[in-house]
Amino acid sequence: MKVMYPGTFDPITNGHIDIINRAVKVFDEVIVAVVRTSSKETLFSVDERIELVKKAIGNDVRVSVEPFDGLVVEFAQEKGVRTLLRGLRMISDFEYEFQMALTNRKINNSMETMFLMPREDYSYISSRLVKETFSLGADISHFAPPDIINALKKKLPIKK
Ligand code: ADP
Repeated sequence: MKVMYPGTFDPITNGHIDIINRAVKVFDEVIVAVVRTSSKETLFSVDERIELVKKAIGNDVRVSVEPFDGLVVEFAQEKGVRTLLRGLRMISDFEYEFQMALTNRKINNSMETMFLMPREDYSYISSRLVKETFSLGADISHFAPPDIINALKKKLPIKK
C-alpha cells in the first residue's frame, strides 16, 4: 500500500525523517509531498526543500519526493493513493490534525489519514524551532542531519 506524507518541510528535520523511517516499515511506498506554496512563508524554495528531503532520505527506493499545489486529497488521488500520513508530536498538534483529517475526509470520503508518533526526543522538534535556534547560534545537530545544517549555514545569518 502507498501512503502520502504531505507537508511544508522547511526544512526537513530529524522528526520528519523519523516518521518516514517508521512509515516504510508499515507501507510499501511513501510519497513525500512537498507543498509548493504554503500559507507559511518559507525560508527555502520548493526545489530546495525537495532537494533537502532527497538528501535526507538517501537512496531508499521505497521513498519518493514530489511537489504539489492545491488540495492534497486531489494530488493523492491523482497518484492512486488513498492514505495520508501525518506526524503527531504534542497534544497541541492534535486539534489541527483532527480538523485537517476530517476536512480531507469530507472532501474525499475514501481518503483516510493515519498518524505516527516520532521518537520521544524528536517529539518537540519543528522546522521553525530548528531555524530559530540555528540563527541564534545553537548546536542543532540533534535536530537535523549535516546536509540540512549546511544548507541553513548558507541561508541564515547567525545573530550573536
Ligand atoms: P505542515 O506545514 O503541513 O504542518 P510540516 O513540514 O511542518 O508541514 O509538517 C509535516 C508533518 O510532519 C505534520 O504532520 C507534522 O505534524 C509532522 N511533523 C513535523 N515535525 C515533526 C516531528 N518532530 N515529529 C513528528 N512529526 C512531525
